[in-house]
Amino acid sequence: MSFFDIDERVIKASEKAMELCKDKLAEIDDIQEYNQQKMIKAFQLADVRESHLWGSTGYGYDDAGREALDKVYAYVFDAEDALVRHNFVSGTHALTVALFGVLRPGDTMLSITGMPYDTIRSAIGIEGDYPGSLKDFSIKFEMTELNPDGTLDYDKIASDIAEKKPKIVYIQRSRGYSTRPTLTWREIKKLCEISRANSPESIIMLDNCYGEFIDKVEPLSVGVDMMAGSLIKNPGGGIAPTGGYIAGKKELVEMCAYRLTTPGTGKEIGATLNANRELFMGAYHAPHVTGEALKTAVFASALFEILGYETSPKYNDARGDIIQLIMLGNAEKVCRFCEGIQSGSAVDSFVSPIPSDMPGYESQVVMAAGAFTLGSSIELSADAPLREPYAVWMQGSLNFHSGKLGVMLAASKILRDEK
Ligand SMILES: *Cc1c(COP(=O)(O)O)cnc(C)c1O
Repeated sequence: MSFFDIDERVIKASEKAMELCKDKLAEIDDIQEYNQQKMIKAFQLADVRESHLWGSTGYGYDDAGREALDKVYAYVFDAEDALVRHNFVSGTHALTVALFGVLRPGDTMLSITGMPYDTIRSAIGIEGDYPGSLKDFSIKFEMTELNPDGTLDYDKIASDIAEKKPKIVYIQRSRGYSTRPTLTWREIKKLCEISRANSPESIIMLDNCYGEFIDKVEPLSVGVDMMAGSLIKNPGGGIAPTGGYIAGKKELVEMCAYRLTTPGTGKEIGATLNANRELFMGAYHAPHVTGEALKTAVFASALFEILGYETSPKYNDARGDIIQLIMLGNAEKVCRFCEGIQSGSAVDSFVSPIPSDMPGYESQVVMAAGAFTLGSSIELSADAPLREPYAVWMQGSLNFHSGKLGVMLAASKILRDEK
C-alpha cells in the first residue's frame, strides 16, 4: 500500500500498535454492535417511516418526523423524553437552554467538576459580563475545585452539595481543553449517588458533549436527570449538519422546550425544514462513527506511546469520551502533528495549519481538520494551544482507516523532522 509516503519506522511501530490494541479494538467493536442494535430498535419503536424524512415549514405543527426523532433519542439515551433540534446552534446553546429552562432567580447552580467548559462560562456570567447571563438573572454559580492533580475531590463534593443544596448539580463529563481526566459512566454514577444522598431534591445535570455512545451505559440510567450535547459531535454521526439535544426527565425536557420556543408551545412547534433526513441518518450512523473515533484515539495512544511520548488516556484505559491527548513536548512537533493530520484528510488536504491568535486563548492555537461539516469534531481533527505542556488534543474520525492514516502521517512528519 503506497498511496501515501509514510515513514518506514512509523509503519513498523503501527503494526506493533495494532497488536497492542487488539483487545481494546475488539471491545469497542462490541460496544458499536450493541449501540447499533439499540439504535435500530429505537427507530422501529418510534415507528420511523419514509414520510418522516421530509420536513416542514412555517410553524411546523404536527411534524411527525420531529416527534419520531425525539423518540429515537429518548430511547437510545434511556431518557423519558428528548428535544432534538437543528436549531440548537451548538452544544453550548443546548446546555444554555437547559440551564435557563430549569433555573430561576435566586437559585444556585453548583459545578462539582471544577471550572466548566470555556464557552459556557459567559452564559453563566463568570467570564465577560454579557447581558442576559444567568448571573444577570440573579442565579448564583458555585464550584467545587478539583484536586491539584485534576481528579475529583469526592469529600468536598459531598459537603458542598449538603451545605448549598443547589437547584442544579452540574457535571461536565469531557475534559474540554484541560488535562483533567474525562469521567467514565462509573464515576458519573458515583457522583449521582453522592448528590442524591446529600441533597435529594437537586437536579443532576450533565454536559455530555463527546460522551455519547462511548459505552453500553448512558448517564441517564445511572442517576443523571437531564443532559445536553451537540449534534456536531458524536450523536450527529458526521452527517447532521448542525444541531443539539437535551434529554432526560419528561418534566425537565418540557421546561427546556418552553425556553427554546415559548411557554405553552414548547415541543409542539418548530419547522424542521429539510433537516430531518440528515438528522435521522446521523443518528443511525452515530454509534458506529463514535466507535471508529474511539478506535482512532486508542490507536494514536498506542502508536505515540511506542514512539516514546506520554499519552492520556493510555491505549488500554477505560474511556469516557473520544478525546486523545498526546504530549509532544515542543511547538515544532505540535505543528508537524497538525500538518500530518491535515495532509491525510479528504477535503482541504492542501492546507497548511499555522498557529494563530484566537479569541479567548492566551496563547496561539494551531488546528487541523479536513472536515465535510465545517467545525465538526466527530471528524478527525487536532488542535493545540502553543504553550506548556505542548500537547495536542485529537478527536474524531468518521472511519478508523482514515483516522489511522492521519495519525500515521502525523507521526511521520514528527519523526522525519527529528533527524
Ligand atoms: C464541545 C463542548 C461543548 C459545547 O461546545 P460547542 O462548541 O458549543 O458545541 C461543551 N462542553 C464540552 C466539554 C465540550 O467538549
